[in-house]
Formats: sequence, structure tokens, C-alpha cells
Amino acid sequence: MPYVGRFAPSPTGSLHAGSLVAALASFLDARVHGGSWLVRIEDVDEARTVPGSADDILQTLRTLGMQWDGELIWQSRRSGLYQQACTQLGEHVFGCACTRKEIEQASGRLGSDGAAIYPGTCRNGLPAGRQARALRLKVPPPGPDSRISFHDQWFGDVSQDLATDVGDFVLRRADGYWAYQLAVVVDDALQGVTDIVRGADLLDSTPRQLYLQRLLGYPAPRYLHVPTVSNARGEKLSKQTGATALDVRNPLQPLKQAAGFLGLDVEDAVTTGMFWQRALAAWERLLGETQERDAGA
Ligand code: GLU
Repeated sequence: MPYVGRFAPSPTGSLHAGSLVAALASFLDARVHGGSWLVRIEDVDEARTVPGSADDILQTLRTLGMQWDGELIWQSRRSGLYQQACTQLGEHVFGCACTRKEIEQASGRLGSDGAAIYPGTCRNGLPAGRQARALRLKVPPPGPDSRISFHDQWFGDVSQDLATDVGDFVLRRADGYWAYQLAVVVDDALQGVTDIVRGADLLDSTPRQLYLQRLLGYPAPRYLHVPTVSNARGEKLSKQTGATALDVRNPLQPLKQAAGFLGLDVEDAVTTGMFWQRALAAWERLLGETQERDAGA
């Protein structure tokens, strides 16, 4: 199967040093495999979209020399496809009337992402007099079916129990927007993505996505999560934690910084041409090392 990779930024601000690391890793992986590299604008959460930031991100990618292949996809234009997938999930989906506060009060258990685990209130039907606000996916009861394991090319073997670590999760939110978990699975499958390279903050979402792929009959892609960049307070660098836009007047500087973070030896590159040569060779070596590690494990 030909390699198809992708970078899927949410347009909630400009590209910053953290998101550049994910973009660079997915770009290098696609190029080293002679594959295509798609860019998808994940503006499914329209409430968080910052006008102009998608164009800004795309312009920054071009300036840095990361030109995508094929057509750009915008999630905000694809809600019909998410609706179809949700219909296909049939009896695995249920309407949920609970507010966040009700879930927190009834749950008593926190999931791996720090949010209260859904206590199952509406799982077998809405309580009398209540209306559905969101749609949720039923996860299997605790046991062999609820445990999802996969191999990550950077982090090794990863395993999560959907019943005890996550709970029934949202597919369509109370504000009417489709949830990231569903949109990303539908789009990766419809775009024929074979390899997902992204930040480790999404490692925890991968079992949910694998489970959805299984229910929808989609093939599972390979995964490689790269470490996330932190700020001085140890928080993941993001627009919420105050990451600033990249200064791309001298593209070599942010590129070298991102590559250095990934442990790629690009120090002696003095032109962007040299940078790409060094970075591709270094990424290939890194993949070879992780494969050796996995073979010896
Ligand atoms: N849109 C997500 C983000 O910007 C990335 C999704 C993904 O790579 O699966 O954090």
C-alpha cells in the first residue's frame, strides 16, 4: 500500500514551536518513505477556530519548505460524512442528556485525560423527561474487549482499557459540533492515510480511534507519536499555554530547533537545502534505530 501521511492542525492560532515539531516529523516520515504528505485543517470545532489562522499556518508551512500534496481538506465542510459514519455506528451510539456537572457529580472516577469518566446514566435510555444533548459511543464493558493495544513506533507498546480509563465518549457535542475523535477517524480513512505521525498528547486518544476504526470497518494506520515540547513551567506548549507564533524570517532557525528537539543531528546545516538533506538522513537513521530496538525487545 503506498504511504500516505498527514499533518492535521487545528486553526486556533499560528504554528508554534510545538506544532512545528509534529509537522516536521510527519513531513520527514512521509518523504523518507517516498509517500505523500497531506494537510488537513481540523476546524471541526468552529467555536475555537481563529479566523485567518488556517491561512497563516499554511503560509508558514510553505515558507519553511513543507509543501503538501494533493487537495487541502477542511473538516468544517465535511459534517455530512461524520453524520454518515455516526449512522453506521448504529446501536453503539446513544443520546446523552447529562451536563458536565452531572457527570462529575455522578462519576467519582477520573479518566486518563483527567476528565470524569461517564457514569453510564443514559446508556440504556434517557431518564424520563430529559432530552439528548450529545451523542456518545458505548465502549465495551471491562474485560478483554475493552482493552486496546497497539504498537507505537516511538513509544513502543501502548495499551489502554477503554472502559476503566476513558468510558463512553462523545461523538457529537452538546453544541452540535462533531467531536474530534470521530472526525479524525473518518477523514484519515477516507483520505487513505496509512501513517499517523503526531504529538504524544494524542497517544491517549489513539485507543478510542482504533476502536472506532474497528467498528466502522476501516483499516488501522501505523502510529508514531513524537514527544511534545514543554514551556518553562513544564506545560505542553500550545496556544492555551501562551506559545508564540514562529518567526520564519530565517526559516533555518525554527527548522533546526524543531529537528534538534527530535534528536536529529542537523547542527552543521547552514542553508535550508543542507537542512533538508541532513534531516531526512537523520530521520531515516532514527527509524532504523527504533526498528532495531523493537526487534531486540
Ligand atoms: N488537530 C489536532 C491538533 O492540532 C491534531 C490531530 C491529529 O493529528 O490527529 O492537535
